[in-house]
Amino acid sequence: MASKKKLKVQDAYKKEFSQVAEQLAADPENGLSKEEAHKRLKKFGRNKLNESKKRSIWDLIISQVNNPVIYLLTAAAILAFSFGDLPEGIAILVVLLVNTIIGFWMEFQAQKSMEAIRKMDRIEAKVIRGGHHDQIDAEEVVPGDLLLFEAGDLVPADARIVEATELKLDESPLTGESVPVDKTSEVLNEDKQVADRTNIVYKGTAVTAGKGSALVFGTGMDTEVGNISSLVEEQEKDETPLTKKLNKLTTNLIWVILAMAAAFFLIGWLAGKEMYQLVQTSIAWAIAAIPEGLPIVASIALARGMFRLSKKNVLIKKLSAVETLGETTVIFTDKTGTLTKNQLTVDTLCLPNDQLLKVDWHSKEKPEVEGGDREEDENYRQILRIAVLANDASLSEEDEETGRNEDEESDKSAAKGDPLEIALLDLVNKLDSGLFQELQGLERELHDPFDSDSMVMGTVYAENDAYYVAGKGSPDAILDRCKMILKDGENRDFSKEEKEKWKKRNNQLSEDGLRVLAFAYKNTDILPEGEEAEDFLHELVFVGLIGFLDPPRKEVADSMEVCKEAGIKVVMVTGDHPGTAKNVGKQVHLFSEEEDDETAVMHGKQLQKEMDNNNHEKLLDTLVFSRVDPEQKLILIKHFQEQGEIVGMTGDGVNDAPALKKADIGIAMGKRGTQVAQEVSDVVLKDDSFDSIVVAIKQGRIIFGNIRRFVMYQLSYHLGEILLIALVSFTLFILPILPLQLLFLNLLSDVFPALALGVGEGTEQVMKMPPKDPKEPIITKKNWLQIGVYGLIIGVSVSGAYFYGHFVWEGSKEINNNIAFFSLAFAQFIHVLNMREAKENVFNNQVTRNKFVWLAVIFCVTVLLVAYNIPFLADVLSFVSMGRKEWILIAVASILPTVLIQIIKLFRKDF
Ligand code: ADP
Ligand code: MG
Repeated sequence: MASKKKLKVQDAYKKEFSQVAEQLAADPENGLSKEEAHKRLKKFGRNKLNESKKRSIWDLIISQVNNPVIYLLTAAAILAFSFGDLPEGIAILVVLLVNTIIGFWMEFQAQKSMEAIRKMDRIEAKVIRGGHHDQIDAEEVVPGDLLLFEAGDLVPADARIVEATELKLDESPLTGESVPVDKTSEVLNEDKQVADRTNIVYKGTAVTAGKGSALVFGTGMDTEVGNISSLVEEQEKDETPLTKKLNKLTTNLIWVILAMAAAFFLIGWLAGKEMYQLVQTSIAWAIAAIPEGLPIVASIALARGMFRLSKKNVLIKKLSAVETLGETTVIFTDKTGTLTKNQLTVDTLCLPNDQLLKVDWHSKEKPEVEGGDREEDENYRQILRIAVLANDASLSEEDEETGRNEDEESDKSAAKGDPLEIALLDLVNKLDSGLFQELQGLERELHDPFDSDSMVMGTVYAENDAYYVAGKGSPDAILDRCKMILKDGENRDFSKEEKEKWKKRNNQLSEDGLRVLAFAYKNTDILPEGEEAEDFLHELVFVGLIGFLDPPRKEVADSMEVCKEAGIKVVMVTGDHPGTAKNVGKQVHLFSEEEDDETAVMHGKQLQKEMDNNNHEKLLDTLVFSRVDPEQKLILIKHFQEQGEIVGMTGDGVNDAPALKKADIGIAMGKRGTQVAQEVSDVVLKDDSFDSIVVAIKQGRIIFGNIRRFVMYQLSYHLGEILLIALVSFTLFILPILPLQLLFLNLLSDVFPALALGVGEGTEQVMKMPPKDPKEPIITKKNWLQIGVYGLIIGVSVSGAYFYGHFVWEGSKEINNNIAFFSLAFAQFIHVLNMREAKENVFNNQVTRNKFVWLAVIFCVTVLLVAYNIPFLADVLSFVSMGRKEWILIAVASILPTVLIQIIKLFRKDF
């Protein structure tokens, strides 16, 4: 009987990995079989921390009941019962119930959207199962799994290292120590603290360099992070600054209203009015005034917006990011893959003796290298060699395991790795597949992976009892590491002057828009060891340059225009050469022709100087920062934030994590980005495209606009209600509208039209305005004025109808009450049309185009008419039968406010 206990490995760090494997009944070479993995998943459960538990249905119900409006309603019901008004009491209870159900339904919707989004935000893990490489959902990792990981990955479970190549991990989530620690597979013999167990990798930590494999012994809560309960509970609540502000607004309003109701009660009591009537009026007043639906409708609007974005390749990881997106003033974007397609092809080989060899891709299957005589050319031979050897990509799975599959035409889409490196493999494979295969058969001894600080990468291969060092990287970095140059088949001294000449060539190629890499090699008898093994790229022999074409994304130019109109500054921050950056910048309209002077492009070195000299002016005018390293990204963000800018920053590497965190909106690349970058970001772009950033910003602005719109909508008609009650009851001491009627009405309009406004699709117009100032409140002074005017017009119009019925027709209290009720109700439904922007067309605008608005209005009107015609309901709601003239009055009083407001809007374009 295999129990959980039996698989538990005590002190895995003190054991050889083979011992650990034995205890786990696992195979450290081929991994678990698929069936076994499946069984274990059932037995041990999913590999996840018990997230701050999903709010249960019960919690949702409780949170519905636990709110001031419910208290008030309950008080009202109790009052009604104690004064012997049975039907009224029961009706209030029914409203209470319906209210709770609707609130519950809305919260449930919001939660469901959030969950759907969280599901998309899943992390994958690489494992070996049944001898095959596999990518699985990280939650499906089980004890005994053989994990593979490399720089940029997050470790999905606690595991004992089997193999490690220059492996470094950032264990700060566990230890608080952010300096990466070295990891090896070596067994430890003494007791060690978690932080010092150098042969264990822990769930939730990040691989910052190297790669390795490890045997999983702890998953889910059965891990070190699982043990730290505080970490587990730390999960962002769905409450955002925006919903918090709304909550505060509502709470403040409740107090104001209650105070007003109390004052009214007091005055009436002093005037000797009847008690029950007074209490009823006060309560009606209070209920009328409280826009209780605000925060929840806002949550739905936010969640819906996120959901909509997720369909457009944008994954929002934090609800609060939606709001910040709309406020973004500067976007720092990288170049490769975001502004360009990241579909690289080799365009030019630049070799000594002034040979510029163009690659002709007329036939995709058989590229031709034009110009020069290559038969005897040693440089040509070497550069192809290095291209394949100093390379971490693979063309297809077959390459890795069984050698190239002859039948299969090598298709770049099956390839894995950096597109730059894939392009190199693709070229050599197509030019000379014999050479390609031969090179793939060689044995790699050492590997110095690419990182954007050194800008180089290299490998060491064993060859004929000696070693071959192959290196490639940014030309400046490689040239600095070269001592000789290969020319006319010989290694020659590489003079300073000649190096300069090559730097110039690099500049020329870059300015033509090519991405340029330099290639170098050396032969050595001894395999580098120790420190040397980590940095063996020096005293190299320079071979030549290769220029790549990376076509810009066509759509970006349009998005650039949108950003300009929207008052968003776009700045390119790239590790690439200034020339290439400038060329791409031009093509995507990052700067216009007239701006195309030297000041628009700044080199990373100069950036450092300007910062050191506290000379910030220039930074703000710069549109392209080239040769920038990740640390400088951080400096840039800080600087711009100090100027009050809201900064969005894109990133993909492990090194970008601090910058992504620091930015107001960290934007990670979904395709190219590492897990670490995605983990710390607020937004993940599934397609890596710049356009998606703009889509997200637009959506952020739309959502904010929607929220402002429905808040204004609700507040203004609630104000109308208050005014109606105040005007009539202060003059006639009659309650023009009954508490139950108001409750019923607000149940309809607080939910349906408001919700419809909340999920509106907005207009293009939002990207023609400057970003919202983060300090600007949801409801500005101008908005309050609008609310006041709208409320006043509605209140006066409906009261007017009441007074008309009362004084002119001298109708009964019941009829007048009905006139007021239906006038108010229809006025309020129609009022939703006033929520267009004043600049928009009266008939064709974002509100009239929103089909939910129409559905909501039709639904609400239907419900009212049905209630009016069903005797039982009509009775409960005190509806009486009215004649034609009453209905005409109602029509006039309910349409008039909207006509007036629309006229005001026509004349005051800012209203
Ligand atoms: P980018 O902003 O264009 O993504 P990176 O920081 O990724 O720039 O790269 C900086 C420079 O490093 C590139 O301009 C190139 O010269 C070099 N480089 C990029 N990828 C590789 C690689 N796989 N191997 C060697 N050098 C590389
Ligand atoms: Mg890059």
